Amino acid sequence: MENCLFCKIIKGEIPTTKMYEDDNMIIIKDIDPKAKNHFLCIPKCHFKLLAEMTEEDANAVKACLKKIPTLEKELGLKNGYRLVINQGEDAGQTVFHLHIHILSGQKMGWTPA
Ligand code: 5GP
Ligand code: ZN
Repeated sequence: MENCLFCKIIKGEIPTTKMYEDDNMIIIKDIDPKAKNHFLCIPKCHFKLLAEMTEEDANAVKACLKKIPTLEKELGLKNGYRLVINQGEDAGQTVFHLHIHILSGQKMGWTPA
């Protein structure tokens, strides 16, 4: 998808700190961390919202959800972690290529800001 920031990162056109990559996904460090550890798990298929997800997209998301817990050491997940998928304006989604935020490394509150 042209002009999609995350598609460009996946293609290697924009530099990033890569934590993991396979055929389904890339996991990178968030450029503006909102927790001590903040990573983004980005399925390689471009789609914007869960509501628009195809079966193929859903398989990539499933692969992401199965992979993340296996990267306990690399992502600092030992004491717990939080996954977030922002959807649309009220949630503050800014990049319209579905991605899973992985937050870890500290105790977290529960306040929509
Ligand atoms: P959203 O707000 O769409 O849920 O999440 C987008 C995330 O992408 C934000 O947390 C933001 O900090 C991150 N981000 C934006 N631009 C870049 C970039 O160029 N590189 C990386 N690694 N993360 C980015
Ligand atoms: Zn994209």
